[in-house]
Amino acid sequence: MTDRRDTAQPAPDGGPPTARPSRRRLLLLASRAAIALPSAAMLAALTGCSSADVGVVVSTPTPLPTASPAGSTASTAQSGGSTGVRAATVTPTATAVRSASGAAAPAATIELRPPQVGVGEAMRVRARVPGAATASVRFRGIDYQMLPQPDGWFWAVVGAPTEQPPQANSPVAVTGRTASGQPVGTTEQASAIVAVTRPVDYLVASEAVTAVLTPDAGVREETLRAQQFAAYDRSPLWTGLVQRPCPGEITTHFGQGRSINGGPVGAFHSGVDLADDEGTPVHAAAPGRVVWAAPMPIRGNSVLIDHGGGVKTGYHHLSAMHVQPGDAVDAGKTIGLVGMTGFATGPHLHWEITVWGVNVDPITWLTQPFGPES
Ligand SMILES: [Zn+2]
Repeated sequence: MTDRRDTAQPAPDGGPPTARPSRRRLLLLASRAAIALPSAAMLAALTGCSSADVGVVVSTPTPLPTASPAGSTASTAQSGGSTGVRAATVTPTATAVRSASGAAAPAATIELRPPQVGVGEAMRVRARVPGAATASVRFRGIDYQMLPQPDGWFWAVVGAPTEQPPQANSPVAVTGRTASGQPVGTTEQASAIVAVTRPVDYLVASEAVTAVLTPDAGVREETLRAQQFAAYDRSPLWTGLVQRPCPGEITTHFGQGRSINGGPVGAFHSGVDLADDEGTPVHAAAPGRVVWAAPMPIRGNSVLIDHGGGVKTGYHHLSAMHVQPGDAVDAGKTIGLVGMTGFATGPHLHWEITVWGVNVDPITWLTQPFGPES
């Protein structure tokens, strides 16, 4: 029986990518896009992810604030929609408030869903901030702009990389500002980043298949990933849940470490593999704008859709692509066909969801809404 999986893994030596596009290049790319390039600190954080998971690299990373040590990893509560097992940590309840002047400021109301985030998973942040015209949220030492919603709340979605060590204390801080940019106060909501245990995937692939995984292919793959995640559309175009792009059976879950032909366990699997017949239609998981439709060395024929608000979906190993960059697509639109281009052991869709360039478990998004109006 054909093993319908892929790797979307880094170079076979298992080492980090060596391609480092200059920040000037990234800025050039960003200048052509809808919004500004993420901060240097944000890109530096993404650099710490495996090549398979993110692929955004910078030449001059800026250190992030020091994180807390790893927390408890002792329990067995199931994570939603995934094979992963999530560790229990704290119950986030505490709130601390401070104003720019140090005086008491009206507290923001912060809603986190889920209240603590698993590694390789996303978290929706909503906040009502008295007196603020704009708001930002700090998560993992990175500031994300929140978007105002019609109901008067601000919204953002963030993701914890699979390589992120668990943190029993990982507060989420929301800062409101006036229209002129003056801070009106910061409110912290206690939270945690919890471990998710995922089994190792032992993949058997022929020499003909593994021949795709050359160091040069890894470098070129990372260069393309840097381009694909250099900028983001601002306004979210989707609400509620996302749709499964094709009905195929899951052959490899997101986030599983992978051993190829008995070799060492390499980088985490950056998406979910849905095995289906060659030529099966692949549908857009949510409304958005096509930002990439072209071959990649490892992921094969690939379509990327920007859904706004930092969220992109990727559809890989396609046998055919039916959209062009710039196309607006609705949820369910046929964007291509299942195939096995790139590094694949059989026909399947390698499906990815990224949040500000951080790969997260797509399956969770089928049952948990992370959008702004859900
Ligand atoms: Zn895959």
